[in-house]
Amino acid sequence: MHLFPLFADLSGRRVLIVGGGAVAERKAALLIGAGAQVEIVASQVTKLFDQWIVVGKVRRGAAAFDDGLLDGCWLAIAATDDRELNARVAAAAGTRRVLVNVVDEPSLCTFQVPSIVDRSPLMIAVSTGGAAPMLARLARERIETLFDHSWGVLAALLERARARIRARYANLPARRRFYETLLRGPVMRLAAAQRVDDAGAALDAELAGSAAPGADARVSSSHPHPLPEQGSVTLVGAGPGDPGLITLNALRALNEADVILHDRLVSPEVLDLARRDAERIDVGKIVGKHHTPQAQINELMLDEARRGKRVVRVKGGDAFIFGRGGEEIEYLREHGIRYSIVPGITAAIACAAYAGIPLTHRDHAQSVRFATAHRRRSETEDGVLTAAGETLAIYMGVAEAPPLRDRLLADGWPADTPFAIVENGTRPEQRIVLGTLADLVERVRTHDVHAPALLIVGAVAALAAQNHWFAAPPVDR
Ligand code: SAH
Repeated sequence: MHLFPLFADLSGRRVLIVGGGAVAERKAALLIGAGAQVEIVASQVTKLFDQWIVVGKVRRGAAAFDDGLLDGCWLAIAATDDRELNARVAAAAGTRRVLVNVVDEPSLCTFQVPSIVDRSPLMIAVSTGGAAPMLARLARERIETLFDHSWGVLAALLERARARIRARYANLPARRRFYETLLRGPVMRLAAAQRVDDAGAALDAELAGSAAPGADARVSSSHPHPLPEQGSVTLVGAGPGDPGLITLNALRALNEADVILHDRLVSPEVLDLARRDAERIDVGKIVGKHHTPQAQINELMLDEARRGKRVVRVKGGDAFIFGRGGEEIEYLREHGIRYSIVPGITAAIACAAYAGIPLTHRDHAQSVRFATAHRRRSETEDGVLTAAGETLAIYMGVAEAPPLRDRLLADGWPADTPFAIVENGTRPEQRIVLGTLADLVERVRTHDVHAPALLIVGAVAALAAQNHWFAAPPVDR
């Protein structure tokens, strides 16, 4: 079956829905959104239908279907669980030349309702012509990840500026170029940051620029020395390793990157999701073995952004949890580079979940603290913490287990406090080692624990013994 795609203007037009259940409800919601005059025929309706009827969004007509109800309708939907009735509605609609959709009966339909990605006024509809509705749904989900809500903001801005854009870029190739650069430029980025007014102002500025129509739109002539369009940096938290744990926004950023700067902690599976032709730089590798001078990374980001590139700086976990994200955006801000930040799932959250350890628990832990064994200055500070009923998640701790244990004991943690070490959390090779502070050092040694590993200290750590669900079971001796 080959269907004709169509976006119908149903505003103020009558549509009949036969059936008052959940399926009818979904269709009604779309129709109400499109401003249609929805009339429903049903003996029973859902609660939501009741509300719609009360506020006047839906009109409840007769309880039983009658052919005449279709008179004056533009569309009809048969969504009852009575197949015979559905067929009758379809037949009556056919005689009246009213397009009809019969739920789950493609052969009786004269129109189908596509799966949609709604970024109004941008609307993307997907259909397989009834061949494989589930496939259409899956395709829709993919499209959903590609188009974030800033497309809606952009479409609304462009709607308003349409006449001006046409006037300024009279010829089609020039107009096309203008739109293309718009997607890569500040207007789109401001829209993505939900700074709608600023995005509008940026669009005005682009249109007011004195570059001759058709000239390279990347050159802003309001600038005394035309610069290439400025790049940007997106700081992306890529989570602890399992690629399923990155966010849709992280995926989008990776899809749009020109250059990707990543740490060693970022898993190859995550990097596989990035745009193929993006340049990838392992900043852990290029600058040396242990401590990558942060200054060098900063300069690299700056260089690439100044060359107009969209730089994606990917970090393990979250950039703001022991990730030096704060220092990086300070540097970018000082140098006038635009940035945005995509949060990631930090190791403590992820490792706890994948070990079955609730970080807070009504009975055992009222607060949780993220700490690191590393400190910048050698410290004479107060203890890490001593509060009872607290969970401590320690990053970068296992390499220095003996001094760490000593400090915890000195801070007043009882020697029998449970701990859990989660090594390679969320990855197939994840290991969990359980014990108490008294035998922390010995366990780390016996099991040859290596980074990346997270140490969870507190009563909840012991719960991994019963709650674990992922990869290898915990070891506790
Ligand atoms: N920004 C990161 C942390 C970087 S510090 C985040 O938010 O997760 C590096 C430390 O994070 C490691 O030494 C380890 O303690 C922890 N870590 C990161 N990924 C981990 C993983 N997959 N499993 C266990 N610990 C991990």
